[in-house]
Amino acid sequence: MLNRLLTAKLLDEVHTGVIGVDSARRIQSANSAACLLLGARQMNLAGRSLVEATLSYELLNLLVEAEQSGKTVERELRRSEATGRTLNARVCYVPKSEDGIEESYLILLDDVTELRYLETVRRDFVANVSHELRSPLASIRAMAETLQDGAVHDHAVSLRFLEIVIGEVERLTRLLEDLLILSRSESQMPERAPFALDGLISEVVERFQARAEKSGVSLVTNIARDLVVSANRDQMEQVVVNLVDNGIKYTPNGGQVKVSTRTTRVGVTVEVEDTGMGILSQDLPRLWERFYRTDRARSRQSGGTGLGLAIVKHIVENHGGSVAVASEYGVGSKFSFFIPY
Ligand code: ADP
Repeated sequence: MLNRLLTAKLLDEVHTGVIGVDSARRIQSANSAACLLLGARQMNLAGRSLVEATLSYELLNLLVEAEQSGKTVERELRRSEATGRTLNARVCYVPKSEDGIEESYLILLDDVTELRYLETVRRDFVANVSHELRSPLASIRAMAETLQDGAVHDHAVSLRFLEIVIGEVERLTRLLEDLLILSRSESQMPERAPFALDGLISEVVERFQARAEKSGVSLVTNIARDLVVSANRDQMEQVVVNLVDNGIKYTPNGGQVKVSTRTTRVGVTVEVEDTGMGILSQDLPRLWERFYRTDRARSRQSGGTGLGLAIVKHIVENHGGSVAVASEYGVGSKFSFFIPY
């Protein structure tokens, strides 16, 4: 058994809120986690009535249930407006002892806010993926059925339909590739090795020159030399490709995309700035979420999967870096990422 000092230390250190309640439903003692989880203004809850201290009738009802059933009862409490937290409560009833110690209750509180949030994110993700897969599949099926119904005998129509089918298959392939990249960037710690980031940026920019020209966009650089970073080269290439690709995609004819670097003592910041359509300020905070697009139709039309920026963010953060965006609607955007040496 732990001595009193160790018990007190343990109660102070655990993240579970622990509250002892007496037979009059007054708090005998509460550890600091309990005070934090309940958003108590004073860190000392002892002596106060349970309802007054927690403002929760749900907890009180659990106490009654535990007493009536003689068992430990457990339930998730409604999300508190005051703290924004979702708590899971376990209440144990301790009956009056033979040597006359009054009945009491033990309440254990666990913070499940993050868990519930992650579950929602996962559910949304699965729903989004299903939705993204459904529309190209529906389109392929409609084309195939129309061909089957007789359109196959019209050579010109057949060719047009097959072209659409190939386009949809390409879209599905891009989506699956991006999903794989995203899942790899989330699950693996990248293997790092020193390489010249300036060389990599130049290579990517060179590869995009023809496409930029075709879209009437000038693609220019202002890159420092000898930028050696220790990172995963393939993943960094993916990051630069996604940002340059977006820059060109969302900049109309006659515009410019500029890739530049800034160095500090601790790392490098790469900026991709365009004179494109820009982004409304209300969209900026959600831009890095998977499948978030400001203009779904435009993203689709230009072959976007809605995963490019989520991939950028994951890779950069996995490297201990950070991402940022600044934009003015109708004027242009500046996407940047910082990567430590
Ligand atoms: P997508 O495949 O749709 O381009 P991304 O994750 O790369 O997906 O980008 C998410 C959304 O952010 C895009 O659909 C677009 O609305 C917006 N966006 C990204 N880059 C730019 C940019 N350079 N200019 C304007 N909007 C952009």
